[in-house]
Amino acid sequence: MGRLKKYLRPYWGFMILTMAIKLFGAYTELMIPDLMETILDEKVPAGDRQSIFLYGGGMLFCAVLCLLSNILANRMSAKSSGQITRAIRHDLFNRLEHLSARQMDKLTVSSAESRLTSDTYNINQMLARLQRMGVRAPMLLIGGIIMMVRMDAALALVLIALLPIIALVTYFVTKKSLPLYTKQQTVLDKIVRTVQENITGIRVIKALSKTEYEKERFHKVNTELTQIDQKAGTVSAITNPTASLTLNLGLTLVVLIGAYRVNDGRMDSGVIVAFLQYFTMILNAMLGVTRIFVMWSKGEASAKRVADVLESPEDMEILEQIVPEENAPHIEFRNVSFSYTGIGVNTANMSFRLERGQTLGILGPTGSGKSTILNLLMRLYDADEGQILIDGQDIRSIPFQQLRQKFGVVFQNDFVMEGTIADNLRFFRDVDDEALQHAAEYAQAEFIATKEGGMNAEVQVRGNNLSGGQKQRLLIGRALAANPEILILDDASSALDYRTDAKLRRALRENYADTTTVLVAQRISSLRHADVILVLQEGAVIGMGNHEQLMESCEEYAYLARIQMGNGQEVG
Ligand code: ADP
Ligand code: MG
Repeated sequence: MGRLKKYLRPYWGFMILTMAIKLFGAYTELMIPDLMETILDEKVPAGDRQSIFLYGGGMLFCAVLCLLSNILANRMSAKSSGQITRAIRHDLFNRLEHLSARQMDKLTVSSAESRLTSDTYNINQMLARLQRMGVRAPMLLIGGIIMMVRMDAALALVLIALLPIIALVTYFVTKKSLPLYTKQQTVLDKIVRTVQENITGIRVIKALSKTEYEKERFHKVNTELTQIDQKAGTVSAITNPTASLTLNLGLTLVVLIGAYRVNDGRMDSGVIVAFLQYFTMILNAMLGVTRIFVMWSKGEASAKRVADVLESPEDMEILEQIVPEENAPHIEFRNVSFSYTGIGVNTANMSFRLERGQTLGILGPTGSGKSTILNLLMRLYDADEGQILIDGQDIRSIPFQQLRQKFGVVFQNDFVMEGTIADNLRFFRDVDDEALQHAAEYAQAEFIATKEGGMNAEVQVRGNNLSGGQKQRLLIGRALAANPEILILDDASSALDYRTDAKLRRALRENYADTTTVLVAQRISSLRHADVILVLQEGAVIGMGNHEQLMESCEEYAYLARIQMGNGQEVG
């Protein structure tokens, strides 16, 4: 929690006040048995009715004070811990948004989710419990012991001798169960991940009849969690029965030993009644202390997971700008190599140049590194070696805001969001209605006019009320809307029919002549007009040039062209 100190700082005063009120409540609680003992041992034998009522009233008063101060302090603790957790969650979300793609790969989405939800919840619980029990339990424990010793030291010592039993058992249990709690959290991450994958892929899973397999997969992680839960449960299960045993043993001893001492005239009978209460109080306080300990460790583990994200460094620096070379091309890759994991290569020593307004086509089988090139160009990942330049500037020296503004992009498997069609096209940017109309028109999204409400028609979550082709056109429209300097289309026309695809290309050529375009496609017809085409295989360029050159020089390209376009017949 030390690393999250700054979130506590504004609430220190408030939390100390909360605990002071708790302390007062605990004090009034401790007074009650004492007052009762006085009534029983002094006032009742003396037959002093007035005093009995007075002291009885005192007990009632203490009870009410105790109740009120506890309610007040508990509400205050809920407030401060809620506010603190809110601030932590806010910053955590913010940090997660800004993590680099590489950091997110390492963290994993499901872990990010559970840190944002269950870990912050644990922190909240720890803070709340700590305020509610943190001073109350020790106060009741120590205060109770002091009161007992004052009333009858001998009997008090007998009871105090019982306390180490509980202390030892809880120490043992906590030590055993804490690592299990940490593990529990990790397995919980796993469950979230499995469910997430399952729900995202629900249609594919059904279509391919993988339901049984998925059930089995979930069953596995579910069992793992159950086993850890069970183990943790089994270990902790000793605590409560031991506590009950100690309590009952103590109460029996109080009555037994107390009776002898009262008989011998060494103790007043009221002390027995007071002791019964104090011992119960002390034991509960003792359990409270150990519960705080567990809560603390759990919260501490969660705080660490949260702090790890909050303190993760910016892993992409902005380099110093240099004066760009004269006549630099718009986009240039210079001997760029990259690997996601450090194992194998996903981009191997790649070089190419694109002038402003030119089109680059990228072709290659799945997994050959097509999207990777786009990720590198947009600086979602930093290349391991080599340089990527835009207008002669190393992209690492361009501030992110400025860099990302250059791009209009449709990612592979991009998704539309819930909202109106206009919202989706505009995507929170400053784009006027006319520009939206144009973008929609060039993206061949005529379907918008046929929707009820046109631009203001509602799109459901993930665009469920649109067809694949409609979604793609909407996404292309979104990429075009801000009139980008560089347009990136990753397999963005796969759901368009040939005719629409051709119309789209014509619209781009005519209206975005200055826009440099990078397009990934499966169909040669989609990129045969590109100025430069890269043919990729396992991260390496095996062919580069325009269509005609590649037909001559690249066997794979020529082969694909033959099977896709038939005997030289052109489509689109
Ligand atoms: P393509 O777009 O040509 O289908 P990608 O560029 O997406 O291929 O992927 C190239 C290779 O990099 C693949 O082997 C893929 O498994 C791997 N890869 C892609 N993204 C990641 C990632 N975030 N972490 C690790 N490996 C990745
Ligand atoms: Mg791809």
